[in-house]
Amino acid sequence: MRDNLLLAPKESNVSGKVTKIAIAQGDGIGPEIMKATLKIMKAAGAKIETEAMEIGEQVYLSGNSSGITPEAWDAIARNKVILKAPITTPQGKGYKSLNVTLRKSLGLFANVRPVSALHPYVKTNFPEMDVVVVRENEEDLYAGIEHRQTEDVVQCLKLITRPGCEKIVRYAFEYAKAYGRKKVTCMVKDNIMKLTDGLFHTVFKEIAIEYPEIESESQIIDIGSAKLAASPQKYDVIVTSNLYGDIVSDIVAEIAGSVGMAGSCNIGKNVAMFEAIHGSAPDIAGKKIANPSGLLNAAVMMLTHIGQAAVADKIKNAWLATLEAGMHTADIFQENLSTKKVNTEEFADEIIARLGESPQQLPVSSLIKGTGTIEIPEYKRENSDKELVGVDVFIDWKGNDPQTIGKGLNEIKSHNLKLKMITNRGVKVFPTGLKETYCTDHWRCRFVAQDANVKTKEPLYLGIEFDQVIALLSKLHQNEFDIIKTENLYEFNGQRGFSLGQGE
Ligand code: NAD
Repeated sequence: MRDNLLLAPKESNVSGKVTKIAIAQGDGIGPEIMKATLKIMKAAGAKIETEAMEIGEQVYLSGNSSGITPEAWDAIARNKVILKAPITTPQGKGYKSLNVTLRKSLGLFANVRPVSALHPYVKTNFPEMDVVVVRENEEDLYAGIEHRQTEDVVQCLKLITRPGCEKIVRYAFEYAKAYGRKKVTCMVKDNIMKLTDGLFHTVFKEIAIEYPEIESESQIIDIGSAKLAASPQKYDVIVTSNLYGDIVSDIVAEIAGSVGMAGSCNIGKNVAMFEAIHGSAPDIAGKKIANPSGLLNAAVMMLTHIGQAAVADKIKNAWLATLEAGMHTADIFQENLSTKKVNTEEFADEIIARLGESPQQLPVSSLIKGTGTIEIPEYKRENSDKELVGVDVFIDWKGNDPQTIGKGLNEIKSHNLKLKMITNRGVKVFPTGLKETYCTDHWRCRFVAQDANVKTKEPLYLGIEFDQVIALLSKLHQNEFDIIKTENLYEFNGQRGFSLGQGE
């Protein structure tokens, strides 16, 4: 069985079937830009039927900390396609991000944000840029699993999964193929995070081989984003994990000229959600001057997704022609270039008046040219041989001399488990270390089988039983060591499934 994941330029909806969509008016400028967007879609002949759903600020303030009502969940289940205006997350603790809730609950694994320059109509230093950021949307640090463990230390779990990597990387290549794009760039930090980002990079290399017609390259996220900010025209499709993608996609939107212009989509197996990239702009709400382009571009992506690419092209081309005509909202108005400063409604009317026209300078939109849908094969898990070889015990200890805690732990005898090393914030401090290393109250103490790693330079691990770990923890507890957490150390098919401490 294969999942059907769209957002490729599908054949036009020739049958004229009406597609139902759930719409969220949003907060702040949301209702104004939604009204303009729906008016343009209607005038262009989009075959859609809308069902309004209630999400956002008022729902939060009514005491619902998730910001979405049960009725709205039902509307999503009925319609499966969502067009969402930005919402305001009230300030203060306890309010969960609605976007993160929707993305994770609905399995919207791919966040796709195409951004291209509209030079000279929108000011940018990069007139040639035309980049699509494909961001993993469900995992990574956004799993939001955080704990305070000691007086000084809090942690956040970074979860990267093989199925998550496979889905997003394949989606990026399929997207590139469907849209005739030439290159996919993977951005990771696997020189530091060898297991998590290493997995993302490994999967990227595995899948890239299946697309020989598309150039693939990998960059470390720090230099990659610096290069992207300096020369965005050298990039085509970028695929990356959740946090990096969040940052990189904002950089891309910003350097293209205006956050008010770009749309994005969140794609899942059953549901897809389309929205502007900007927020609810409370500073200009009610003034009727908001630029509806972000939501309109999201609607263009949505129409492509539901098989109405001809209407999507018609709207996009009229929008481009309107920009060329110098009809600009306040946020993109340029004294020497714009012909008229238009408000939200006037801008929509100018677009409607140009439906059927094409831009003269800017590239003509031709979403309809492509065919087919994006398909992702079902994930097949390979079962490795998993063996327990030790345990990292994290201890809260307020001393600052590693030798003191190290000697104390060395005296603990429990079956054949033996202290191998201690690190503090990942740096080895016992049995040897540097006196300059700053130590906090969070000690990672690695226990492995006694006879492991005695003769060879390379770490060598022997299998142990979980009972031994329990016995060790019990002994440590009896000896008043304050255990704050443990991580089992495993080998998978003989391959180490944990990182070494710096200096180990
Ligand atoms: P914002 O994007 O709303 O506004 C940033 C600046 O850009 C403001 O000066 C605003 O006036 C301007 N701007 C944004 N969109 C514009 C448009 N279409 N036309 C003209 N100018 C526009 O970001 P913010 O001020 O940081 O956030 C405001 C609220 O939006 C917050 O409550 C935030 O949580 C929320 N937010 C929601 C989403 C979403 O629903 N997807 C995304 C981001 C922020």
